Amino acid sequence: EAKRSGRASYQFYTREFDERMEEALRLEARIKAALRQGGLTLHYQPVVDVKTGRLIGAEALVRLLDADGSAVLPDKFIPVAEAAGLIGDIGEWVATEACRQHKSWSAQGLELTMAINVSPVQFRQQRFADKLCGIIDAAGIDPENIEIEVTESAVMENIDEAIRILNDIKSLGVKVALDDFGTGYSSLASLTSLPLDKLKVDQSFVRRIEGDAASRAVTEAIIALGRSLKLDVHGEGIESESVLHYLREQGCNQAQGYWFSKPLPASEFALWCRSKAAA
Ligand code: C2E
Ligand code: MG
Ligand code: MG
Ligand code: MG
Repeated sequence: EAKRSGRASYQFYTREFDERMEEALRLEARIKAALRQGGLTLHYQPVVDVKTGRLIGAEALVRLLDADGSAVLPDKFIPVAEAAGLIGDIGEWVATEACRQHKSWSAQGLELTMAINVSPVQFRQQRFADKLCGIIDAAGIDPENIEIEVTESAVMENIDEAIRILNDIKSLGVKVALDDFGTGYSSLASLTSLPLDKLKVDQSFVRRIEGDAASRAVTEAIIALGRSLKLDVHGEGIESESVLHYLREQGCNQAQGYWFSKPLPASEFALWCRSKAAA
């Protein structure tokens, strides 16, 4: 009997495993098709200066389009793309499209910093900084207007290698932000040797600011740390005015979240900017 149930649970396990494998393979096929047929798109979320309320930037966030026009979110397909060796192609597409959009907006008088997320796998690929430089040059934009977002955990995985890559990126004139800060395992000492422009306080803390004293303590500590290292401190996941006020009082200087806007397709983003400028 024990043997039978053991075997049954083994079969259950493999069936579940098979289903997940199939799902990943289906996604992989869709990503490949999307790369060939223009099935990827970027949404843009505004970044706001906390003191003035002015729009200062946009974060480009990739989506995989379904046949019915709905969007698959990156948390679902980026890990599959990484495992399938497709993240380099996605990353190149994202950077190219974000730079093209930046150029187009700035021609329309919309000047902003364009933030581009980089996967840890992509970050460590050969000649990442060279490729980025080529893309920015080809778009004909000032590298100072581009900001690369790398996660804390990606950087801390191999700190010496990360310092080298980040220095290459910085030497192009591109800015560097540490994303999802507070969730990884930073050595605070190594943080001082990283060539950074910005800390992005992870939204898991920001979103709990109102209800949870520990999240407030962590947020305050990160803001103080960033300020004493002379970095910009950027709060993400701001969903209410009271959280925005609180972050402003703590000295956080950049903000992003549903309180301002969800990530939007390019055309809607431009409309949002115009209505904000009019207000
Ligand atoms: P992230 O870089 O930390 O981006 C912020 C995520 O939080 C976005 O989710 C955004 O839609 C969401 N968000 C922003 N404000 C709020 C808020 O007020 N409340 C809530 N609940 N959520 C908010 P998204 O677009 O699903 O992206 C998830 C993650 O996928 C990103 O986290 C980033 O790590 C990754 N990602 C997105 N685009 C790319 C890309 O082009 N390349 C790579 N490698 N990764 C990407
Ligand atoms: Mg990001
Ligand atoms: Mg983040
Ligand atoms: Mg994230």
